[in-house]
Amino acid sequence: MIQINENYLKLKASYLFSDIAKRVTAYQESNPDKSVIRLGIGDVTHALPEACIRAFHEAVDEMAVDSSFRGYGPEQGYEFLRQAIAKNDFQAHGADINADEIFVSDGAKCDTGNIQEIFDLNCRIAIPDPVYPVYLDTNVMAGRTGSYRNGRYEEIVYLDGNAQNGFIPDLPDHPIDLIYLCFPNNPTGATITKEQLKTWVDYAKKNKTILLYDAAYEAFIRDDTLPHSIYEIEGAREVAIEFRSFSKTAGFTGTRCAYTVIPKSLVAYTAAGDPHSVHSLWNRRHSTKFNGVSYPVQRSAAAIYTDAGKKQVTDLVDGYMANADLIRNAINSMGYSFIGGENSPYIWVATKSDSWSFFDMLLEKTGVVCTPGAGFGTCGEGYIRISAFNTRENVTTAMSRIRQALAT
Ligand code: PLP
Repeated sequence: MIQINENYLKLKASYLFSDIAKRVTAYQESNPDKSVIRLGIGDVTHALPEACIRAFHEAVDEMAVDSSFRGYGPEQGYEFLRQAIAKNDFQAHGADINADEIFVSDGAKCDTGNIQEIFDLNCRIAIPDPVYPVYLDTNVMAGRTGSYRNGRYEEIVYLDGNAQNGFIPDLPDHPIDLIYLCFPNNPTGATITKEQLKTWVDYAKKNKTILLYDAAYEAFIRDDTLPHSIYEIEGAREVAIEFRSFSKTAGFTGTRCAYTVIPKSLVAYTAAGDPHSVHSLWNRRHSTKFNGVSYPVQRSAAAIYTDAGKKQVTDLVDGYMANADLIRNAINSMGYSFIGGENSPYIWVATKSDSWSFFDMLLEKTGVVCTPGAGFGTCGEGYIRISAFNTRENVTTAMSRIRQALAT
């Protein structure tokens, strides 16, 4: 008798986005004359930068001719892209990362979800709350979390984010093997300083912990004092894996390209306590289960690092960040407390009521859709996430509707 992986039955059904969709549909049915503005889902709305499109087209044309056609490429990514990433995203910021420490992939979702496979099933895991749900769910599927009771999995250590700690969790008070961190954060928009990040790196060194650092929103950092990469912190090469994505940076959510950095100096241990290269484990995993990102997509991604591409990406991100400024100003003027939106496309607003009641009230009164914070974990209750990914016009209209509705 074939049996299922029963760990899947422990997954908490994620109704968040389907619940939102149901409520929006019901609202539209009863208010057919009202327009809905979606500031909920974290997907980009603007087209790919022109430099990316041009490189994409040229690469497709290369595929049309036998002499320049490419079949299977290197699983780890083409050298032209890995070199451009190492130089521009790391070495230019003083982070000592080489091209052969970069694994190009089709998404940070897959990478942050798959990475746990190369670590022991019994390792102790710490996950922030609120959180991007992939970190938690993939550990549930693997069987690391125990049962779900009273809103939490028994064997996960939760790193609580709240107004008191500014949504930067405190260090665990005991040794943990694997810790997920995400800055700038989804959903809260919180950012971490170099000094704060150094305390995590020091903790990890002391406890032989690996930090899984998700920097998918790095491109939104505007404060020059904030770290773009964990490898800007001394000692991080020995304790951290970093995840990056072109999704939000350059509009690749539908095109798919990302990468993971695993320094060659990073080790984890055998049961006998012998150190083993994490880079070589992931290389084995990646080349066994993944066959590379398509050549035109990698050419398109590499175009981000040309002079024209850099300017276009900056313009794209600046456009979203101008939306974030509009949202922050509006929320601030209405007397709500919030964080985020300064170095992140997300604004995390304290709702003075429960998340779903506020969501319903906002939809009913304004037709604006946000994301209830409770969907990201128990610490998200009492908050909503507003996303800056939309057109200027929609954001302006949404904020003026919200101002009018909440003022009355
Ligand atoms: N990491 C975080 C924190 C995200 O918010 C997202 C997407 O929303 C991802 C990773 C996934 O990125 P990708 O599109 O590269 O799979």
